[in-house]
Amino acid sequence: MQIVEKSAQLPSASALVPTMGALHEGHASLIRQAREISENVVVSIFVNPLQFNDTSDLLKYPRTPESDENLARESGASTLWLPQEDEIYPGEIEKLSAGVVGEKFEGLGRPGHFSGVLTVVKRLFDLAKPEWAIFGEKDFQQLFLIEKMVKEENLKVKIIRAKTIRSEGGLALSSRNIHLDHKDKRAALVIWRALSAADTSADVHQATEAMKLALATEPAFTCEYAVIIDEETFGIATNESKSKRAIIAGWINGVRLIDNRPMSQAHA
Ligand code: AMP
Repeated sequence: MQIVEKSAQLPSASALVPTMGALHEGHASLIRQAREISENVVVSIFVNPLQFNDTSDLLKYPRTPESDENLARESGASTLWLPQEDEIYPGEIEKLSAGVVGEKFEGLGRPGHFSGVLTVVKRLFDLAKPEWAIFGEKDFQQLFLIEKMVKEENLKVKIIRAKTIRSEGGLALSSRNIHLDHKDKRAALVIWRALSAADTSADVHQATEAMKLALATEPAFTCEYAVIIDEETFGIATNESKSKRAIIAGWINGVRLIDNRPMSQAHA
């Protein structure tokens, strides 16, 4: 595996896996999926300051360069790309807009977050010119907005969706889980229980109530939102919505967690 900083050193016809480092098995599965598509798998690690509206969150973001290198190599990356800030953002930055969807849910308490995400992803695409780029469903709103940007800007890159990898019991793997102790992790399993409860009713109202009831059983969890969205618009789903997804965000012991799960087709 090659380790490079400059985009001029990147291979062509690549499958790109953009990350912010602190790599775990979720990232590994994206890399393995990329390897099935292309020999040239580029894993980028760039902690994008533009998507953090809170400086302490940016400073607190975990950094594990040595284990990242091993995980990328062992998962099949051919190139580890460590872009430098001056190549990503030379001079004035023209920020992309994430539109109204960028202001909801994950965007609500973090103004400019999705604009920062789209801006960096577009820069990574412009520099690496990948044929494919792989993103996790774990960050479903991000995936939705990236797919929308690719369509609207007519970009050539093909976006591949990757399933969420979970620990036993259903906790979605996340770099932020580093800040959770054993007890916190056990409490966090309520998120998966609630997402699963949402799938017990075809009716959006009942499913939402089931999710909220499940969340209320865990006093250590503070819910920010727990709703069912229409996958086509990212608005709140109605019973008529074709594909629906339950999405949850909240806090455990000062750590913000998000997760989501599609509602099964049988109920659509
Ligand atoms: P991050 O480094 O957290 O920005 O994540 C980089 C990529 O990995 C994004 O496309 C995420 O959606 C994806 N990802 C993060 N956690 C998981 C997970 N548990 N399962 C699958 N993909 C994930």
